[in-house]
Amino acid sequence: MPALKTSAILLRRVDFGDYDLILTLLSHDRGKISVIAKHAKKSRKRFAGVLELFSVLDIQCRTGRRKGLAVLEEAQLVEPHAALREHILKTAYASYWAELITAWTEEDQPLAFLYGLLAYALGELNAGRQDAALLNLAFQMRFLALAGLCPNLNYCCHCRTDLKDMHTTGTGFDLPRGGLCCHTCDPTNEPVLCLSRGTIKQLQWITEGDLARIERIRFSAAALNEAQHFLEAFVPYHLGKEPRSLKFLRQIRPRLAAT
Ligand SMILES: [Zn+2]
Repeated sequence: MPALKTSAILLRRVDFGDYDLILTLLSHDRGKISVIAKHAKKSRKRFAGVLELFSVLDIQCRTGRRKGLAVLEEAQLVEPHAALREHILKTAYASYWAELITAWTEEDQPLAFLYGLLAYALGELNAGRQDAALLNLAFQMRFLALAGLCPNLNYCCHCRTDLKDMHTTGTGFDLPRGGLCCHTCDPTNEPVLCLSRGTIKQLQWITEGDLARIERIRFSAAALNEAQHFLEAFVPYHLGKEPRSLKFLRQIRPRLAAT
């Protein structure tokens, strides 16, 4: 890899021996990359206080002498996002988004749109400007769309009846097929997942609408719960495993809501 200079968000850091760190970053120019930060653990001067999870950095890397990981040469802090590491619920959401990207994107594939989405969502979550649960819905829907896995919320995935022609307030969802399932196509009328029309409309809006205006959507508590339940079933099913950070988020969320 020739020298690389780019903005990047730190998604993951793992100790490597006594001195070094291996970092996974989402870079603006080259998508997900892994680099080694030599002596980052021991030296106080080297990268002091810079290599923190979820921070936005300007980095410079070079290829090592032997084939292998690129070596981080310089890192400057652009957005520290300190609140994301200080508040457990914010940490949980940020970790979930970072894990989705770490586990389900390829290295060295430019993903500037995903970079913009993550930078925006982390910035809003850090500042507490927008509701965290709503940001989480928007992040998941947009991530799924980018990954080519967006749920079909427009028509029945069996008979293709359009949502507007379904004359029921709630619509079943066929999880394996990833799409709505109308009343006629589900004669048992006992779908595992069910979405009300209002929730479907709001999910469509947060996927396609202006991200800076999502706080204007008034999700009722019931709709928010429904959408959350839906996505947290959909994401693990279609990505093939449950992210560990999602398990953690599910554990702490009710406890924090009760206090
Ligand atoms: Zn149908």
